[in-house]
Amino acid sequence: MSEEIEKVKCLIIGSGPAGYTAAIYAARANMSPVLYQGMQPGGQLTTTNEVENFPGYPDGVTGPEMMIQLQAQAERFNTDIRDGWVTKVDFSGDVHKVWVNETKEIHADTIIISTGASAKYLGLDSEQHYLKAGGGVSACAICDGFFYRGQETVIVGAGDSACEEAHYLSNICKKVTMLVRRDEFRASKIMAERVKKTPNIEILYNTDTVEVLGENDLVTGVKVKNNKTGEEKVIPCTGFFVAIGHTPNTEIFKDYINLDEAGYIKYAEPGTAKTNVPGVFVSGDAADKTYRQAITAAGTGCMAALEAERYLAAKGH
Ligand code: NDP
Repeated sequence: MSEEIEKVKCLIIGSGPAGYTAAIYAARANMSPVLYQGMQPGGQLTTTNEVENFPGYPDGVTGPEMMIQLQAQAERFNTDIRDGWVTKVDFSGDVHKVWVNETKEIHADTIIISTGASAKYLGLDSEQHYLKAGGGVSACAICDGFFYRGQETVIVGAGDSACEEAHYLSNICKKVTMLVRRDEFRASKIMAERVKKTPNIEILYNTDTVEVLGENDLVTGVKVKNNKTGEEKVIPCTGFFVAIGHTPNTEIFKDYINLDEAGYIKYAEPGTAKTNVPGVFVSGDAADKTYRQAITAAGTGCMAALEAERYLAAKGH
């Protein structure tokens, strides 16, 4: 039997920097926010080691540590932070309905979606091993490239993200090898051209990743295979970057919220946190395929909470 329906003023779905920042602002505005953490409490940052580019941490901070601090800050103002996974929504009426763990039903005046996006990985055992060990596999060059300054890195992918990240790495690393699985890029011409013209980026076309190699949990190279000739070789490197796209975590909203062709939530008005459903706002990577930074997620979390507050005020709450 399902539990009694709970009514809340502000429901925040997701617990990355976007969700926690929205919670801090909403709680301080007396909106008594309830935040569901989802399957990966703390979000993508919990898979990052050192965060050195979030203002306010002159000595850097680890991703998990920063998320613990953001959670503590949200709790300090009495955000109700809960374990739980939102499995279904119904945004068809004035009341926004949400179901948690299939059973618990919540009716919320405002919703802030902060469900983020998940980086795609190749799925190789060796890739996952060094990712979990923090030993040289990353899905974010802007976050982690600095740790490989002066070293050799490999990046897989051929879209705009891969090109942007390869170029970013080329300014930091001695050499960047780019693995492109077909004989052409997917990226826009201008981005691909920029990569092709960069002297310390070597592009290997028709090339698949066979295995990430390492010693003592640290990456030492990548075994690759030319999928036309079958030739295999090892590329020495200390960092292996995966830039094959992200999946925004927006599937449960698709019947009500306008998404773009890649699944990212579309803002109803540029420069706001509004979705097409009044009272439902979005922050963070669920709507951002361009920046994807903790600081931009936090910024849009603030925007979403301020707009939720104004929405409630306009309704006389
Ligand atoms: P995309 O989906 O555009 O590209 C993914 C790339 O990864 C493709 O080249 C694809 O290869 C490759 N890939 C996928 N799976 C594998 C695999 N298993 N092994 C090897 N390669 C693989 O993702 P992006 O993140 O690059 O871009 C997403 C969206 O964001 C795009 O619309 C892009 O234009 C936009 N964007 C814009 C930017 C900007 O304008 N500054 C910056 C970054 C992103 P294949 O081509 O063979 O399918």
